[in-house]
Amino acid sequence: MRCALGAAVGLSLALGATTVIAQPVESVPSPANNTGRVFITLTPREDAYLARAKEAAAFDFTGTLVRVCVAPQTGPGADVAPPPPPARDTWYTDPAKVFDNLYFVGTRIHSSWALTTSQGIILIDTLYDYASDEAIVGGLKKLGLDPASVKYVIISHGHLDHVGGAKLMQDRFGSRLVVGGPDWDMIEQSVHRFPNGKPRRDIVATDGQKITLGDTSVTIVTTPGHTPGTLSLIFQVRDHGKPLTVAYSGGTAFNFPNDVAHFDTYIASQRKMAKAAADAGATILMSNHSEFDNAVTKIKMMAARKPREPHPFEIGADAIARYFKVTEECAELARYKLMQAAK
Ligand SMILES: [Zn+2]
Repeated sequence: MRCALGAAVGLSLALGATTVIAQPVESVPSPANNTGRVFITLTPREDAYLARAKEAAAFDFTGTLVRVCVAPQTGPGADVAPPPPPARDTWYTDPAKVFDNLYFVGTRIHSSWALTTSQGIILIDTLYDYASDEAIVGGLKKLGLDPASVKYVIISHGHLDHVGGAKLMQDRFGSRLVVGGPDWDMIEQSVHRFPNGKPRRDIVATDGQKITLGDTSVTIVTTPGHTPGTLSLIFQVRDHGKPLTVAYSGGTAFNFPNDVAHFDTYIASQRKMAKAAADAGATILMSNHSEFDNAVTKIKMMAARKPREPHPFEIGADAIARYFKVTEECAELARYKLMQAAK
């Protein structure tokens, strides 16, 4: 991000209107008033975490800020069968070429990325099962790519909105599946979540592992927190031949058991991935939900890109550092609230 200060001030003003610093201590969000806005009542210490997160988010990461600071989830979902698929027009969006060697085959909500190499495709994430056949298999074909050339599928984590098409890719195309060990366990232990069958355990991802296909490697950074086996990634793309490095964040929201130990793990992973991104010289931040990286909007913005303008995904190393500051500070806020509540 080239100039965060003005935007940060603006956002502080915008969100500051909903933040009440109150004495005595009261940290339970009050219900929506008749304006429809939820007022968050925080202690000064809690508000300091939120202020740092808002400043880091500026206008670049408002979706992430809302998800983990303003209205965070507070626990995991139950092991139940998924609801019926939503109407197609709520999730369908066209596939797109985004970099010389990276293609979007996701939905309006979830991202699936196809990284092309000299010897086939590395696919990152597989959406919900209801979307995977049309968005991924159909999307690759629409883009002139062969789904049978997907040799590896890396799953950011084992929740259904990312692992839904893994079985399809494994069964139909023989793609090798790369999943974090604890998330293989999570998939295998689920009783109700996979009514149409589960993917079979394949490659167990490890920290620092390189998934290499032809001339291209993806480096795995294990970032437990969102799930115990969440995988983040570092890899290179090319923009009109110019190499650029992507930091891919594999898990974000707080829908895990909300206790101090889990937040300690999550916070350590945010710091770890921030360092990995900085060390690799990453200037692109990607995630698995458009809510966090604005992927679908940025893809649309590409139509308005003029020659020599930066790629909409190229936000710079400073912005990437700020992204992981948002998730870290918001997790610190949640952790602090837990510790206060336990007193
Ligand atoms: Zn998830």
